Amino acid sequence: MQFNFIANTPVPSSSGQTIAVVDPSDGQTYDEIQRSNATDIDHAVDAARQCFDTAWSRLGAAERGRLLMRLSLKISEHSEQLAAIEQRDCGKPTRQARADAVALARYFEFYAGACDKLHGETIPYLDGYSVLTWREPHGVTGHIIPWNYPMQIFGRSVGGALAAGNVCVVKPAEDACLSLIRVAQLAAEVGFPAGAINIVTGYGHEVGDALARHPGIDHISFTGSPSVGTLIQQVAAARHCPVTLELGGKSPQIVFADADLDAAVPAIINAIVQNAGQTCSAGSRLLVEQSIYEPLLHRLGQAFEKLRVGPATLDLDVGPLIRQSQQQRVRKFLDDARQANIGTVAQGQVVDSAPASGFYQAPTLLRDVPVTHRVAQEEVFGPVLCAMAFRDEDHAVEIANATQFGLVAGVWTADGARQFRIARRLRSGQVFINNYGAGGGVELPFGGVKSSGHGREKGFEALYGFTTLKTVAIKHG
Ligand code: NAP
Ligand code: MG
Repeated sequence: MQFNFIANTPVPSSSGQTIAVVDPSDGQTYDEIQRSNATDIDHAVDAARQCFDTAWSRLGAAERGRLLMRLSLKISEHSEQLAAIEQRDCGKPTRQARADAVALARYFEFYAGACDKLHGETIPYLDGYSVLTWREPHGVTGHIIPWNYPMQIFGRSVGGALAAGNVCVVKPAEDACLSLIRVAQLAAEVGFPAGAINIVTGYGHEVGDALARHPGIDHISFTGSPSVGTLIQQVAAARHCPVTLELGGKSPQIVFADADLDAAVPAIINAIVQNAGQTCSAGSRLLVEQSIYEPLLHRLGQAFEKLRVGPATLDLDVGPLIRQSQQQRVRKFLDDARQANIGTVAQGQVVDSAPASGFYQAPTLLRDVPVTHRVAQEEVFGPVLCAMAFRDEDHAVEIANATQFGLVAGVWTADGARQFRIARRLRSGQVFINNYGAGGGVELPFGGVKSSGHGREKGFEALYGFTTLKTVAIKHG
């Protein structure tokens, strides 16, 4: 049985109800988490506020940094344990679960070093004045975390918020809570004051909604679906609470005829099969220059057929999807594509030893997908790659920008001038040239335009979003 973690103490939910924890590799229940409600959020926000007022805001920036560094080291010491927890909870192949634990430690390392490097400015003003700016924390920040990369998204969001001087109330996705409860325990062990990191588990429409509505929450960081992102922003707007929204994407990988295909092919495949395609920055649309379209699809098709899908602990190319409803969602996209006569180039294979009760989906490469079809427009969040051909650079940019999203784009070309030209024209938060970092790069500011959201997390840039700026004008004559 797992408990909420509030004020450094494991506590049951006030409802006394629990939610089953399911292993996606076999569909079996193996643990329980608390089904919390608004009362539990009240409790967590009170604990956080008290911590902010009496402890956290009194720590010097360097001291805060040392605490974050101690947590980073502690996470590294426990990285195998954390990876094992995440693997079972989310169905992650071993290499992915380990990579997530390493990234979590790295986020706290990065933000540990940033704590005492965030500062304001002095501004020239009228004669007889001195003007300065202070970067101040919002206070108590709320963090609503999705199930696809709980440890990584906790690291980037909570790490940045704490570094900027905030204290945090965290609502993980009900499908992926266990690693974050453990990380909060580790934080307590290394000396985080009670109330600095609070974890409250439960359903989004209950406890997530209560968190977003709570008047004691001074900033909300949300990562998840566009529809829930809209709700969060509406709820926050009612009390003018700032929000950072990371709402996913339909990211294009654009391959020109002069590209180094030996480098591009494995990166294109990884960008869509990593985490079974359940990655907000998955490269889910493949735009290929007409002259190399057929040979590249042939090559990718051969590689897709070799992809193996199975239980997380087998550490194959692809693990299960998070839950049955996600599996049904992906299948519905593929059914719709079939009905629209969209062709399949190739599929990977689910291994025979995979339990029928697990949530498996073979990676699928679709061809000649119409730009406007829903499989090319909406976030599938599964290992489905949509290939389409383009005529020239203008056409490539037109297709790339023709979705509601704008999170990440990849461009493969040897032409240096084109690299800059096209990077400027793509409407997205990140552009990778001759590489693709699905979710990667702790140092790299990350976030979207259009329906991919707004605000930036990761990198130093995130600290500006987790602070508010106060301008102080002193007239001294
Ligand atoms: P989701 O509903 O947006 O969930 C994201 C987070 O929001 C979870 O913690 C969820 O809690 C919470 N939540 C749900 N309803 C809420 C509400 N009314 N108020 C406050 N919080 C709420 O996403 P999902 O249903 O898990 O996945 C659906 C689709 O969203 C996916 O297929 C994918 O396209 C997209 N998605 C994108 C990302 C990303 O990284 N951009 C991540 C996850 C999902 P519970 O899960 O506990 O209900
Ligand atoms: Mg789970």
